[in-house]
Amino acid sequence: MIPAAPTSLQQPPHARWQTLWREAIRDPRELLTLLGLNAIASSISEAAARQFPLRVPRGFVARMRPGDPHDPLLRQVLPVLDEDRVAPGFGLDAVGDIAARRGSGVIHKYNGRALLIATGSCAVHCRYCFRRHYPYAEDSAAANGWRDAVALIAADPSIHEVILSGGDPLSLADHKLAELSDALRGLPHLRRLRLHTRLPVVLPERVDAGLLAWLEQLPWPVTVVIHANHAREFDPTVDAAMARLRRAGTTLLNQAVLLRGVNDDVETLADLCERGFAAGVLPYYLHQLDRVAGAAHFEVEDATALALHAALHARLPGYLVPRLVREIPGQPGKTPLGKF
Ligand SMILES: *Cc1c(COP(=O)(O)O)cnc(C)c1O
Ligand code: SF4
Repeated sequence: MIPAAPTSLQQPPHARWQTLWREAIRDPRELLTLLGLNAIASSISEAAARQFPLRVPRGFVARMRPGDPHDPLLRQVLPVLDEDRVAPGFGLDAVGDIAARRGSGVIHKYNGRALLIATGSCAVHCRYCFRRHYPYAEDSAAANGWRDAVALIAADPSIHEVILSGGDPLSLADHKLAELSDALRGLPHLRRLRLHTRLPVVLPERVDAGLLAWLEQLPWPVTVVIHANHAREFDPTVDAAMARLRRAGTTLLNQAVLLRGVNDDVETLADLCERGFAAGVLPYYLHQLDRVAGAAHFEVEDATALALHAALHARLPGYLVPRLVREIPGQPGKTPLGKF
């Protein structure tokens, strides 16, 4: 008789969100078939899909409009021929992150806060992502149990806030997150923790009991900066995830990217800000696109961006108007473009 493996050697059971993660769509043609859009298969770029593969959770696909080739959610994830066009000024390290690397996955650009590349993985691959060419494999903070990254933060008492970013930090299993927060817990100069994550939007099942238990025992105030670019990214499952995050005591903010063909009109931007607020999320930043190779077709001219921002200001309460910003390498923070 073969003895059963001791429990300690068995893999921990996977959480439901991890199953949903694995079931994400990765084949552009399968995505188009699901949406009844085989007719636009000729717009797919194999080269772009090789450089940065399609990945999108099925729950997010369910929010796309079948039969609409211009769907704003689809446009954010489908690798298309436009990406192959070489555009002057669009490069591999659009925001100077490689120069700001301190090693061990720590990027320290701004006073008081350090950003930690917690992982290279994301549940969704956004075509405009400024990190789509980032050398993650060379530089992740999770290496050797976070020790080097935490040592860098420990050695700099000017760092009051750690921002978990990536990739998407919530793609890490709960026990990895706990390992990191336990390592940070002893640092007297840490006052705040922040998460930059798109998972509560694209895979809201990630906000499960295990994650909430982790959040609730953290010793610092926690801000969760989500990332949604269009009101239709919210649905009842996202609302429920936001409500759970709020009950866990976190502050919820949204950062969006201004994207041609996705949200570059005032109606769409106002809807996004109002829809987010209905889910308990305040607008934070509206980013001008980082000029990363392959994303030029998403760019909105500054003059248009400023006009949109002014129109938003004229129509919404001040607290629902995000700051229009651009990241300029070498600046002490994101650079405001708008007057408000
Ligand atoms: C955007 C960014 C931050 C956060 O900036 P805030 O203005 O505090 O939101 C921190 N570090 C890096 C490297 C960044 O790119
Ligand atoms: S979730 Fe964020 S980091 Fe990941 S691909 Fe999208 S924009 Fe990039």
